[in-house]
This record gives sequence, C-alpha cells and structure tokens, in this order.
Amino acid sequence: MSSTANPNRSNNLPGFDPMMGQLEVLESGIAMFHGFANVAFAYGRGEMIVVDTSSRLMGAMAVRAIREVSDEPFAFLIYTHGHGDHAFGTEAFIADALTRGHARPKIWAHEDVAGRFKRYALTRGWQSHINRLQFGGAFATDGLFEEKSFSYPDLVYRDEQFLDLVGEPVELHHGMGETDDATWLWMPTRRLAMVGDLIVSSMPNTGNPNKVQRYTLEWAETLEAIAKLAPRYILPGHGPAYRGEELCVEVLRETARALRIIHDEVVRRLNAGEWPVDIVEAGISIPADLAAKPYLRPIYGCVPFVVRDVIRRYAGWWSGEPSQMFPATRKDHGSDIMALCGRQAILERARTLKDSGQLKRALAIAEIALNANSSDTEAITLNAEILEAMAASERSFIARNFFAGAARQLRDRTK
Ligand SMILES: [Zn+2]
Repeated sequence: MSSTANPNRSNNLPGFDPMMGQLEVLESGIAMFHGFANVAFAYGRGEMIVVDTSSRLMGAMAVRAIREVSDEPFAFLIYTHGHGDHAFGTEAFIADALTRGHARPKIWAHEDVAGRFKRYALTRGWQSHINRLQFGGAFATDGLFEEKSFSYPDLVYRDEQFLDLVGEPVELHHGMGETDDATWLWMPTRRLAMVGDLIVSSMPNTGNPNKVQRYTLEWAETLEAIAKLAPRYILPGHGPAYRGEELCVEVLRETARALRIIHDEVVRRLNAGEWPVDIVEAGISIPADLAAKPYLRPIYGCVPFVVRDVIRRYAGWWSGEPSQMFPATRKDHGSDIMALCGRQAILERARTLKDSGQLKRALAIAEIALNANSSDTEAITLNAEILEAMAASERSFIARNFFAGAARQLRDRTK
C-alpha cells in the first residue's frame, strides 16, 4: 500500500486489522506496532532493529509504542519498500534517538528505494492526486511526495545482506512484488519472516489502477522462496501476524498459487493471440477453494487488477480495439450515439439498467450522455448515482474509493 493513513479512517477497511493502533508482543524480543502499516521490531539484546517506520502521520505514534517496551538504541531502521506508509515516519525515529543521546540510526534498504523517491518527487502532483483518491481522502497528501518527506537509506544492498543484532543473525533478501525495491527479513534462529506488503491480508495489490508496474510472477516466486524456509511467524506489512508453521506455509503457498493461476492464464491467452481487451472480458477467476481463503479476500487488491498487471507486464498499451489506436474523442463519439438514439432514450436505458442492478452496463451508457455534454445536469446526476451504487457494492477498497471519488467530483459540479 502507499501513502499516509489516518487511523480514524481505518474503518474504510472493515475487518482489516482488529489490532489497529496497538502494540503486540509476538514472542520474547519480537513485537509489532499495528499502524495502518505495521512497524515490527526486535529488541532485548542491547540495541534494536526496526522494520519500517510507518507514515508521516503515524511515525511518532509508532515510536511511543516501541518506547513502552524498550529504551534501547535503534541500531538499524530497515525499509521493506519505499512506500509512504512504510518509510515516511523515519524522522520521528531519528528525533527520538537524538533526544536520548543515542547515535543516529542507520537506514538499510534495497538499492532501488532511492530511485523510487526521485520518481515521487518528479511526479509529486500526480502522486498526491491518486493517493488522495485511492485512500478516499483519508490522507493529507499535500507536500507528501516532495524531497523533504524522504529519508534516504544510508546503506543499500542488491540481492541479500547479512546483519548481526548483537549476536542474532538477521538476513535481508530482495524479492519483487508490490514494488521493485522490496526487502523481506529472515531471522533464522526464530524462523521468523517480516515480509512487508508481500502479504497484506487480501488478494495482493498487484495491478493497482493508477500506479506503475507491479510484479505478479516474481511476487509468487518470492512467497515460494519464503515458504521453503518453513517460517513459524509471518509479520506482514498490514493486518494481523500469522503464527505457526502450518498456517504460515499455507498462506505463502496459496497466495503464490493464486497469483500463478492468474498469471499463467493471461500468458496462455496472450500466446494464443488474444488482445488485452479480450483477456479482460474473459473474466478470469481463481478456483473456489482459493477464493474462500480469508487471506485472499478481494478487499484491497482483486483478481481483475492482477489480470491487468500481467497484461501490462508483457503487452503494450493498445487494447486491441481498432477504434482505440487513434481514438475518436469521447465528445464526438458520445455526440454520434446521442444523435442516433436520442438523449432521452440513452438516459432511460441507463436508468433501467441501473434499477435492474446491471451497474457496469448502466455506467457505460450513462457515460455516453455525459461525454456528449459534460454540463448536462441530468446526466451528471445519473452517472453519480450509478457510481455511488457501484461503490456501495464493491469489495475492493481501492476500486470502491475510486468510484466514490468519481461520484463526489460529479456531485460537486452540480452544486
Ligand atoms: Zn503498504
């Protein structure tokens, strides 16, 4: 996930993390602060490692929670990836260290985190815009993606890095998934994995509609590599921890299996000469036994987004529809359809479809009227109503917020 969460709006994700805002001790020397993004840490040996620093808003809250358990110096702050909800709370940790007269903690991360921060600065307006929409306006995104928000790593690695926490080995491993800059930690003597957003109590968020390429196949491979180690604990980037080897291995293997099924089906269809638009319309799904897993609910990411991610990884931007190579403007196309059918018939048809619950089809028709005349208040209101109905029935937090946000923008135009 990305950006800075307001914990009071966490009910946007029902059932996502019942321990939100609390500190959980998993076993002696290992604990996790449940923020919107989790902050895991190892302590009790004279100094601490902290995995992720939470967000601009919640970094100080995470520090306060950690300080209730330990007053040891932070040896290392380790980013699982460079998203704002995981790596933007660092200043609070550094300030705490300096206030206590401790040395400034060193930040470890994968070598590609710095490139991510540079891209955020380059596209800061876009990042603010899409994250405000994705998280339903729950975030203060103003100025969030500017250089002053970033605490760059002091130390970087490429494939793996072996650290020592006062005699306890800690391994950093690179594996692509939600991001290209991801790190998962392995503490071999405890058989404990801290995996960042590779596991988030939902169908993985690969194929986010507004964000850069994600890595469905590599995601599956990384989860399989962690499963081979037979962890006793998984500490995820969001949501509850998993305990016990049997459950940990199941979550890793089954999530990987779901991703592979979607990936392989898209690739099979591409190889058979299907166009992206055909593959999207095919309605690819995962088997019922996987869909029923609580950790694969489509509450954040969802299967259609994964399908898009795989298409984008291997194909170009063209949908395969000839009209879309050099498309007519939506205004011209809308006007043509309106001239053929008449405005009243279009609005009537959209309303009938909406009333019978066929919301996707209703929206497709209602959009034609709006495209033809963007100040048609009846069309604006009808589009908003359909989008609100779609938001109300949508399980994916991301899609739900985009529908609700689009409806809100339309409603604002009629005020
Ligand atoms: Zn996240």
